[in-house]
Amino acid sequence: QAKAAGRNTRRFFNPSMQARVLEHAEVANDIRKGMHNHEFVLYFQPQMGQSRQLIGAEALLRWNHPTRGLVAPGGFISVAEETGLILPLGQWVLESACAVLAQWAQSPKTAELSLAINISARQLVQVDFVDQVISALHHSGANAQRLKLELTESMLLNDVEDTIQKMHQLRVHGVTFSLDDFGTGYSSLSYLRQLPLDQLKIDQSFVQDLAEQANHTTIAQTIVTLAKGLDISVIAEGVETEAQCIALTNYGCEAYQGYLFGRPMPLEELVAMAAQ
Ligand code: C2E
Ligand code: MG
Ligand code: MG
Ligand code: MG
Repeated sequence: QAKAAGRNTRRFFNPSMQARVLEHAEVANDIRKGMHNHEFVLYFQPQMGQSRQLIGAEALLRWNHPTRGLVAPGGFISVAEETGLILPLGQWVLESACAVLAQWAQSPKTAELSLAINISARQLVQVDFVDQVISALHHSGANAQRLKLELTESMLLNDVEDTIQKMHQLRVHGVTFSLDDFGTGYSSLSYLRQLPLDQLKIDQSFVQDLAEQANHTTIAQTIVTLAKGLDISVIAEGVETEAQCIALTNYGCEAYQGYLFGRPMPLEELVAMAAQ
């Protein structure tokens, strides 16, 4: 007990820990203020099909901070998760994405595009998660079939039965599901088959050094083969070079996302790309 108390005491008076706690609280307050002041924006990263045509985009959150500039999720998502602020933030992302889809439906240049959004574990476990998605679709008039929800392996493990049930309920409406960062989590293959998924998304770590690392080559290739075995689609993220893209094409990968085709960009730029 003395040991535990000692540890606690040290922790309490550790100046760097205290600084972090303060910083954490500051970031949390800042996020609240930022939501109130409409500082959050969505950026859109193009997703290309096998013949490298634009097929959709992933919406990625950015924070247009008054002093920090444009902040990527790495600078605030973990605080948002820990404080629960990811719930109102995620709700805003969902509603904004649906509004964009409804807007895209107005023009033949963009009507066929899909839009993927990232869902956090804390959103998914909400009892009314399914209702939230359906009502966002309903209020915006967006086509559910164009909305893709990205989940990660780790969040599915919380309550597999509950997750599967929610996925089924949303799929009835046409919503699709992609398993993000695939290959970095703990999915067992048998349980992967139980999940009503539409797509596996190969993690960028397996794409990054495709040309150099023989074992990573095998992983990317194995994931493509796995997706085909499950009869679902597969997309690679973090595609930066022509060599990586060619290797993926040779494996039978059907879709690509990465700097080779475009960085996350403001909505107008993605729409301009679709118009070309
Ligand atoms: P993610 O969903 O795996 O998104 C892919 C990340 O890789 C993005 O980082 C993207 O900018 C980056 N990326 C894309 N192509 C390339 C490439 O060719 N090379 C390299 N090196 N990186 C590439 P970003 O935008 O910083 O987002 C980081 C993570 O934050 C996302 O990873 C996602 O997990 C999370 N996130 C983003 N937006 C949201 C959101 O609205 N809600 C939630 N819950 N999480 C979000
Ligand atoms: Mg993602
Ligand atoms: Mg990813
Ligand atoms: Mg990632």
